[in-house]
Amino acid sequence: MATKHIFITGGVVSSLGKGLTSAAIGMILERRGLKVSMQKLDPYINVDPGTMSPFQHGEVYVTDDGAETDLDLGHYERFTHAQLTKASNFTTGKIYRSVIEKERRGDYLGKTVQVIPHITDALKAGIAEGVNKDVDVAITEIGGTVGDIESLPFLEAVRQYALDRPQGDVMFIHLTLLPYLRASGELKTKPTQQSVGKLREIGIQPDVLICRTEVPMEEGMDKKISLFCNVREDCVIEEKDVDFSIYEVPLDLVKRGLDRIICVRLGLPFVDETPFGDWKEMIERIRRIDQTVEIGIVGKYVELHDAYKSIYESLSHAGIAHDVDVVLRKVAAETLEDESDVQRALAGVHGVLVPGGFGERGLEGKIRAIRWARENGTPFFGICLGMQCAVIEYARNVLGLEDAHTLEHSPETENAVISLMDDQEGVPLGGTMRLGAYACDLRPGTLAADLYGANHVDERHRHRYEFNNRFRDLFEASDMTISGVNPERDLVEIVEIPGHPFFIGVQFHPEFKSRPLSPQPVFKGFIGAAKEASRGGVAGGALEGRTATDPAGGPLAHDDSGTVNR
Ligand code: GLN
Repeated sequence: MATKHIFITGGVVSSLGKGLTSAAIGMILERRGLKVSMQKLDPYINVDPGTMSPFQHGEVYVTDDGAETDLDLGHYERFTHAQLTKASNFTTGKIYRSVIEKERRGDYLGKTVQVIPHITDALKAGIAEGVNKDVDVAITEIGGTVGDIESLPFLEAVRQYALDRPQGDVMFIHLTLLPYLRASGELKTKPTQQSVGKLREIGIQPDVLICRTEVPMEEGMDKKISLFCNVREDCVIEEKDVDFSIYEVPLDLVKRGLDRIICVRLGLPFVDETPFGDWKEMIERIRRIDQTVEIGIVGKYVELHDAYKSIYESLSHAGIAHDVDVVLRKVAAETLEDESDVQRALAGVHGVLVPGGFGERGLEGKIRAIRWARENGTPFFGICLGMQCAVIEYARNVLGLEDAHTLEHSPETENAVISLMDDQEGVPLGGTMRLGAYACDLRPGTLAADLYGANHVDERHRHRYEFNNRFRDLFEASDMTISGVNPERDLVEIVEIPGHPFFIGVQFHPEFKSRPLSPQPVFKGFIGAAKEASRGGVAGGALEGRTATDPAGGPLAHDDSGTVNR
């Protein structure tokens, strides 16, 4: 069977949760026995989000093969088994770069190079490249909003792509907003009509409209939208804000019959049962949660929920496994200027997590927070820069290397416990990013080996600096254990303090491999330890009055705006 394609566009406004909806569509098709691939096309000019500030774009999601990609790919991996690679995310910049490189090589044989056909051809080739082998349905999400100048070549390319394929092999799903006017108490369809109008102007007729709405659609509204947008009435689907957990989205779409509509439209077999037992059980389990643990997140980008998206999701997964709601206390690292700031900011938390990051801002605050967690016996989990800070803190305050630092921010220090990695011959690699999956051998008998229940794991990386092996013996002789090492390059991957209730720092980004039904082991262990700490009464009354469904309390299932993880 030839691969079928679904293109997903968005209209009216951005931030409709298109990535999440696309991932949910992938999941419901997978659960019907189909093999899917997932891809995102981003209209911005950056070649990838690697150089963009998390404040601009949220976190950079890293794939196994080392691509720095859009955070929507995180949703894809958390909801589906699609294999994501460098070909799973194309931007305008990446496409233009490849076309310009070809032009410079003379590959266009003197022709004038133009948006149509050269850019659109490169886009079509990119779409085809993102289809993994033996895939039944390739799902491609188009970033941006229909009507944007930047999206035009993308829409033109997918229109052409559909034209090149047999009739019936491609479908278009348009995600749109029905704004609710509080004053008149009604939902409005006009923006949807106009956005579909824009699509039809380009030559794309959506097959399905998914209407995001705050309140249920009124009687007859689907008929009206159908009439004005030229979409069959049963293909106008309501997607109301979920009031509980984002994991309800796939079930809601199934309830509305979207999986059946897609299968019928693309001529795919439809297995008429609902294989969602484990997923429903998980939702039930979340509903029953009546305990909370509070985790202090000491980072640089705490104001923006998307900046640490995968970390928050991973904490949520670990919380589900332990039947606790994870409440986040987001602490801006640069506000921790002395010990009393730290005490004030972190008193009562059951765990401290220091995420990865770049740049010097807040570095000393992170180090102070880690010292507090280490000396207080509060569970600590450091990720990438967080692990590097834990090493610096230990070197300064326990090993007596007062000027211990990272070469990244202190090129002069004698004691660069974190430095650039050396290659096999000892020649510094000069700041090459270690990106993507690398192997890690775990030392038997350590916390890390215990958490993973394995001797060997793979985790994803995104950093330039490393634990400096010159200091390895000094650490080995101390109470800080090196429990994970990359075997090819002998690089330290994990450090831990065995005498502490839970103290672990990892050089990689474990948050990219957590799934709702299979939480990442270190996150799971961390939340387990935090739950233990909460039983010990460390939290005092800090959590009183907050429940799993109280947005104001800021539990993990809710983002800063109070809506569920959107
Ligand atoms: N800035 C540090 C490095 O490059 C850490 C990076 C990170 O946390 N992702 O090594």
